[in-house]
Amino acid sequence: MKTPAVSFEFFPPQNLEASFRLWDTVQVLAPLAPRFVSVTYGAGGTTRDLTRDAVATLHKSSGLNVAAHLTCVNASRAETLEIADSFAAAGVKDIVALRGDAPKGSDGFRPHPDGFASSVELIEALAETGKFTIRVGAYPEKHPDAADTAADVEFLKRKIDAGATEALTQFFFEAETFFRFRDACAKAGITAPIVPGILPIENWTGARRFALRCGTTVPAWLDEAFDKAIRDGRQDLLATALCTELCSELIEGGVDSLHFYTMNRPELTRDVCHALGVTPRVQLENVA
Ligand code: FAD
Repeated sequence: MKTPAVSFEFFPPQNLEASFRLWDTVQVLAPLAPRFVSVTYGAGGTTRDLTRDAVATLHKSSGLNVAAHLTCVNASRAETLEIADSFAAAGVKDIVALRGDAPKGSDGFRPHPDGFASSVELIEALAETGKFTIRVGAYPEKHPDAADTAADVEFLKRKIDAGATEALTQFFFEAETFFRFRDACAKAGITAPIVPGILPIENWTGARRFALRCGTTVPAWLDEAFDKAIRDGRQDLLATALCTELCSELIEGGVDSLHFYTMNRPELTRDVCHALGVTPRVQLENVA
């Protein structure tokens, strides 16, 4: 089996303890030589400053290629582009450009009166600056706002045509879900890489709740497997085995890059990467 390239997603720390946890996560995962690591932007634009500080510090201190997430929510065009400029000024040239969601409690996305009305507008504006490599989100099981899969794939094509060079997907639990989506994208003329988003399951109850909120199908066999593993106290073992199997199936099916949602907890992601042959680069160099 071919060894995949990997990337890791983090969220920005909200306090000192969380900062240490993020740094520990980086220490564990950086030796795996990720293509890039990314830092999320809180729902409703709530972590604007934290995201900016986290990407700047990671860029300066870790030596990794850092990508900043950026959404259109709750900010004018000028404010959003100012934030993008501040990323560039800190040396961060990769952006995951998203529409984002409405703040908790409000229903549906409503653009700021002077803001970007959609991710496509944000991508166009970022591309126009010529400063950034732009990645976007994609939804193998369709975004909840999309009328149907065809409309969703068509919208993804618009995002790529606007200047994005790669799509990172929402997580899913069965490889077939990704393959169906990849085929639909190819049929629609999308040639940019579609990188599967992988969620190592640290905690089944939380992951299940998150899945239902995102529109990710929870297969009955997975529910049953975790019910039994939790009863037997073997949740971690099952999570590692299932995630490794999902990634292996994706690689066997031609996938060469994986994007891990680490939730700032590195152990499962590290173990799965090791099982896939993604081992610390230092060791590889010693062997060579
Ligand atoms: P878009 O692709 O712009 O829109 C979602 C769907 O709605 C489209 O696929 C399309 O079907 C439909 N749609 C939207 N606008 C139109 C239109 N004008 N015409 C027709 N159809 C339309 N959220 C955060 O708040 N912070 C983050 O850091 C963050 N990171 C993420 C990372 C990844 C990899 C992914 C997949 C999602 C992330 N999200 C994040 C969640 C994301 O913000 C939400 O899913 C949001 O609802 C959609 O953002 P988007 O840019 O993917 O949406």
